[in-house]
Amino acid sequence: MQFSLNEEQSLLRESAAAFVRDHSSLRRIRALRDARDADGFSRDLWQQMAELGWLGIPFAAAYGGLGLGLKELALVLEELGKGLMPEPMLSTVLLGGGAIARGGSDAQRAAVLPALIRGDLLLALAHQERHSRYDLHRVATRAERAGDGWRLRGEKCLVLDGHVADRLIVSARTAGGDNDRDGITLFLLDRGAPGVSVVRQWTLDGRNAALVGFDGTPVGAADALGAVDDGAALLAPVIDRATAGLCAEMLGGMQAAFAMTLDYLKTRKQFGVPIGSFQALKHRAAVVFTEIELARSAVLAAAMALDEDDAQAPQAVSAAKARCADAFLLAANEGVQMHGGIGMTDEHDIGFYLKRARAAEITFGDAAHHRERFATLRGY
Ligand SMILES: Cc1cc2nc3c(=O)[nH]c(=O)nc-3n(C[C@H](O)[C@H](O)[C@H](O)COP(=O)(O)OP(=O)(O)OC[C@H]3O[C@@H](n4cnc5c(N)ncnc54)[C@H](O)[C@@H]3O)c2cc1C
Repeated sequence: MQFSLNEEQSLLRESAAAFVRDHSSLRRIRALRDARDADGFSRDLWQQMAELGWLGIPFAAAYGGLGLGLKELALVLEELGKGLMPEPMLSTVLLGGGAIARGGSDAQRAAVLPALIRGDLLLALAHQERHSRYDLHRVATRAERAGDGWRLRGEKCLVLDGHVADRLIVSARTAGGDNDRDGITLFLLDRGAPGVSVVRQWTLDGRNAALVGFDGTPVGAADALGAVDDGAALLAPVIDRATAGLCAEMLGGMQAAFAMTLDYLKTRKQFGVPIGSFQALKHRAAVVFTEIELARSAVLAAAMALDEDDAQAPQAVSAAKARCADAFLLAANEGVQMHGGIGMTDEHDIGFYLKRARAAEITFGDAAHHRERFATLRGY
């Protein structure tokens, strides 16, 4: 396994780090949240990210992409995670773009990917439902036959960036019962299609989510994404790649929370000395450092396994998500604790990392879910 970065990868990481440093700050994140900003992110920064080529990292050159892997995308996501950047990489590039690249017809890819890569088109994947929890196969939204096509009825929740997405990818049941693996089909449609209702929501970390309803929304035969009735086969690898990408973002978040905490330990004085000189706090900081390094290895292993189409990739993804959920929470919790009373206040930025750690923990499955999935995949 190649763990070190080549020159291209190092440059990518450096440019992402510089971008976050120069263009974003936690003051911006705070302002977006406090203003309940209509978009919840910056379209201007999104355009700049497109110009840097980041939106095209995992897509083929034929569509204007860079044809690189998840390992490269993870380097960028890690840096964006340090700055808690809310720009829609996860929803548009990993979930939406991932589904189109993997399951789309030539016509669907040609219609969506170049515009996505240019920064002109936002996507969202509407798959989660009330009561579905982390089960990708629990789909109650129905697609009823209507002529050559279907009509969609149902509701999706926690659709990441659903209120700004130009196009939605929706999982619906074309056959079988609500909990069956088979019988799910993915459809690609406009957010403004007839019968689509979108209610904006905010996750606890101030990020974008939406409740999306379908009331007889018409979709044609050409709107199906991938094979009819076999959407589960497409959904699983797409969510796995997005989970690995989220882990990279979480890796960045935990490092930033830890850096902020270390800084406080070195500057806050009690009894005339920095509090970081006390062994009790040094030991706790050492534990956080170690957990972050273990999370880093797990993220890299997952990204590489996915890039190599390794049959063990789903296990590596679950290992990474379980580790990242725990490590990010630890780094953020310890950060708040070690900042003392000030860390509990909204005025201090450390709490933003705790909120992001909590929201990211439950996105695509929490640590307990992924430990169980890991154990099941291993046949324990
Ligand atoms: C929700 C909440 C309610 C509160 N209610 C009350 C209240 O009712 N009455 C009241 O008096 N106070 C209250 N406090 C304040 C609380 O007592 C202080 O926050 C606490 O004593 C920590 O002090 P500090 O914030 O100055 O942190 P700091 O002194 O800045 O400490 C920061 C970190 O260093 C550690 N640390 C500090 N000194 C040492 C040391 N010598 N050795 C090892 N580690 C050290 C701390 O444990 C902490 O992790 C409350 C705080 C909160 C968050």
